[in-house]
Amino acid sequence: MVEMTTNLRYISYLDRNAQMAVQLVNALTAGMSGGAPIAIPCEPAQRRTTALSALPVAGDHHVVDKLDDLATDELYRLAAQLRVVFDAPSIDAAALEVCKLLGAYRAGPELVLENGGRWSLHFHSPYAGVAAARGAGCATAFAVMIEIGEFDRFGVCEAHNCDRVFLDASRNGCKRFCSTACMNRTKATQFRNRRREADTPRIVEIAADH
Ligand SMILES: [Zn+2]
Repeated sequence: MVEMTTNLRYISYLDRNAQMAVQLVNALTAGMSGGAPIAIPCEPAQRRTTALSALPVAGDHHVVDKLDDLATDELYRLAAQLRVVFDAPSIDAAALEVCKLLGAYRAGPELVLENGGRWSLHFHSPYAGVAAARGAGCATAFAVMIEIGEFDRFGVCEAHNCDRVFLDASRNGCKRFCSTACMNRTKATQFRNRRREADTPRIVEIAADH
């Protein structure tokens, strides 16, 4: 996705954070998914479980196995803010939203000495909370994708009754749907519509013969 001259670890960091933005939006924002409505849970335990399930289990962030209500609320808020970037009508509008995120989540490079003795580059403070760390990572990934001209790799599903988002990692960059199911559903509808259109004149002709 990114030029191969860039350090591979760096690519992997960006990719993980870009994927995290997709994961958070799809799991923690209300709307439609594959033709079915998706709602944000109200019950606190369910909210925590859903928020926890939206977090990747590995990567640059420490593994989280428990969330309190405050961190849970912050993750839902972050997901809503990330969705605004996906829904932005233009690259300029998206960039303005990303600027707000970079500021709100205090995204900035930090070199951290890991337990194994390796220096690791993060884009958030080592003391940042769960949502703050992920917000900074996602904002940085968005910003870099805008800078390298790859922001259109982020997309919103074009299927009817679906607004889930995706990151297009394909070689030709022409992904339009969040899932194979949404692609198949759309193709089946288009096929039915074409067949109906093809059938219509024949029915009219038969009717005209009588
Ligand atoms: Zn979809």
